[in-house]
Amino acid sequence: MTSLESMARLRDELRRVGKRVGFVPTMGALHPGHQSLVERARAESDVVVSSIFVNPLQFGPSEDFERYPRDLDGDRAKLEAAGCDVLFTTSPSAMYPHGFQTYVVPEGSLAARFEAAVRPGHFRGVATIVLKLLNIVGPTRAYFGRKDAQQLAIVKRMVSDLNVPVQIVPCPTVREPDGLAMSSRNAYLSAEQRAAAPAIYRALRAARARICKGERSAAALRTELTSDLRSAFGVDPDYAELVDPASFEPLGEAIPEQRNVLAPILAIVAQRVGTTRLLDNARLDEDGL
Ligand code: AMP
Repeated sequence: MTSLESMARLRDELRRVGKRVGFVPTMGALHPGHQSLVERARAESDVVVSSIFVNPLQFGPSEDFERYPRDLDGDRAKLEAAGCDVLFTTSPSAMYPHGFQTYVVPEGSLAARFEAAVRPGHFRGVATIVLKLLNIVGPTRAYFGRKDAQQLAIVKRMVSDLNVPVQIVPCPTVREPDGLAMSSRNAYLSAEQRAAAPAIYRALRAARARICKGERSAAALRTELTSDLRSAFGVDPDYAELVDPASFEPLGEAIPEQRNVLAPILAIVAQRVGTTRLLDNARLDEDGL
């Protein structure tokens, strides 16, 4: 589907016949992480819709909108292999026609720090396009990766705050065999940078191991996470922090624990590797990293 009108007509038809629609929004340059979202949607839906739209609104003026990787033919094959029924892809001028002037602007703790601080306007672009896509596609469920944890939290909050009739389904981060979180932007890395990149995953695992051994000082964990990253990459991370996964408020000094059960802790990292920013995160209070 390449027009908003044809996608909306299909939405209305699917709704009329009572189909459950699973939706996976993406920016293309697809990899197995995206495919895992489509496979999950396939298992839980009658009809699976994916979108590919490199959203200019979420890129800053000096960011990589123009050079963001694009491969529509390759993506089409990957979507089909993962069980997608409908690909919706349209142009920026159709999505934001002349005169467009209404935006969704997240405010508060979720949009105050981290990616929001490093990339002003990014989540305004994300929230606006996600709400537009949800309106155009009208899914029963929409699938988002935990890889982009702050985005996921903001989308969940938006859907709840604005009473959008969709269920948001968080999906696990798919990694390369050496632990690097899959990302379309990994294509920017040189061979040397690619070889160094799994240090992010190792630093997150080391933080988890420290908690398992009884470390309960958030400040100590943060310092060690930062120094692991600095020694691997030779520069400080943009941020390496322990936060509450629902609010993205940094944890206080001591990690909260009740009757030996840890409070939810999300470690979040953004690391510059050359000119590429890599994001990763992990729950430290749970197994499975
Ligand atoms: P993007 O195309 O980067 O905008 O990502 C589209 C969706 O795929 C978002 O919900 C991402 O969080 C998700 N995603 C990206 N990388 C991964 C990954 N490695 N594992 C799981 N989901 C991912």
